[in-house]
Amino acid sequence: PKDLVHSDYKFKIILIGDAAVGKTSFLLRFTENKFTEDHLATIGVDFQSKCLSFGKKIIKLQIWDTAGQERFRSITRSYYKNSHGCLAIYDISDESSFEKIKELIEYYKEESEARLPFNVILIGNKSDLDLDRHVPTLKGKMLAEEYGIPFFETSVKNDQNVDEAFMAVAGEAIKST
Ligand code: GDP
Ligand code: MG
Repeated sequence: PKDLVHSDYKFKIILIGDAAVGKTSFLLRFTENKFTEDHLATIGVDFQSKCLSFGKKIIKLQIWDTAGQERFRSITRSYYKNSHGCLAIYDISDESSFEKIKELIEYYKEESEARLPFNVILIGNKSDLDLDRHVPTLKGKMLAEEYGIPFFETSVKNDQNVDEAFMAVAGEAIKST
């Protein structure tokens, strides 16, 4: 029973990004260390939790994934509600997912100005597809600089930088407590 585990902080972290950028894969790599090439339509629950230690503190991350609603632009306010941080994910092999991420960050920013901390980590996923790259690393870096937020290129497939991204979002969330 996970709830018996003591934690010093509990944070709600949400995943945003276009369909097929790898959000569900990102979550499953982090929580279960799994990867599959299949399209993962939904994991069937709203969120999954995982604890990590940060210095001497235990942080429980409750990570929320969309169940495919991003295809229909029908993500509700309750998804954003009370979140402490956000991973904004695009696919380096899909230019339109990069174009779309700006809009999604803007929307999160509007929501945050009302009641949430603006804690966003920009993620360019699928860095293993470098031969099919359509978004230069520099473009990601520049967008992150514009917002003053951290930036990582990740590969869920090769397990690169996934834990680092979650550590970064947790670290920023602690700063705002
Ligand atoms: P979502 O719609 O954003 O939740 O995306 P999914 O997690 O369902 O992933 C969509 C597809 O991208 C699946 O076929 C995954 O196997 C694949 N995928 C996810 N991450 C990576 C990655 O880092 N590299 C590669 N090559 N494929 C990935
Ligand atoms: Mg998904």
